[in-house]
Amino acid sequence: MLEENINLVRKNMQQFALKYNRKADAINLIAVSKKKSAMLIRQAYQLGQHDFGENYLQEAIDKQCDLRDCKINWHYIGQIQSNKTRLIAENFNWVHSVDRLKIAQRLNEQRDVTQSKLNICLQINIDNEESKAGFNQSELLEHAEQIAELKQLELRGLMAIPASHTTFAKQKETFDKVRKSFDEINAKLNKKMDTLSMGMSNDMEAAIAAGSTMIRIGTAIFGRRD
Ligand SMILES: *Cc1c(COP(=O)(O)O)cnc(C)c1O
Repeated sequence: MLEENINLVRKNMQQFALKYNRKADAINLIAVSKKKSAMLIRQAYQLGQHDFGENYLQEAIDKQCDLRDCKINWHYIGQIQSNKTRLIAENFNWVHSVDRLKIAQRLNEQRDVTQSKLNICLQINIDNEESKAGFNQSELLEHAEQIAELKQLELRGLMAIPASHTTFAKQKETFDKVRKSFDEINAKLNKKMDTLSMGMSNDMEAAIAAGSTMIRIGTAIFGRRD
């Protein structure tokens, strides 16, 4: 079951890369394992999946402890409360959901200097939804340069969770806006960002068509969450 799912997701990624003239190896797969057991993660790891995304801090840290013998790249993709930044800074390789300047500053202060830099993406609230976290477009332009200067962080790109659109055209339109914002910010930065974290189980084709470099897939790999 898990093996078939992973193989199918990989096959789809390759086909979409081909269809939209993208290099297949420029698109990375993050397996989103929230609410799934350490045992399932281990099985996916043994099938060659090394990047996992988690949303809930304590759950993630428990699983990291069970899986410390595996060389996993851990991606934090959940909402960030400011009193939890230290644990996030110390226990992940990537944070995709940086949604305020203050959070970036705290992660920078709390990332241990003996560790490699913490890779971050800034979350953009692309559909300007009340219910969603993230910077809006103008805040991003205002803060990205400042965040790029933070010494313990490596500003890698943008992350988006669009409103759920059902048609390919609508999905693509939204991801194109993220891409445009990415290009605008990059034009102002000395060190260019290289990551567009966008696309989930239901919109990965549109995300790849729009230039995604990291897709975050949960359901299509691990099945439904209860
Ligand atoms: C849960 C989650 C995903 C995975 O969603 P699926 O629809 O299960 O593929 C991706 N990104 C974020 C931020 C999530 O919270």
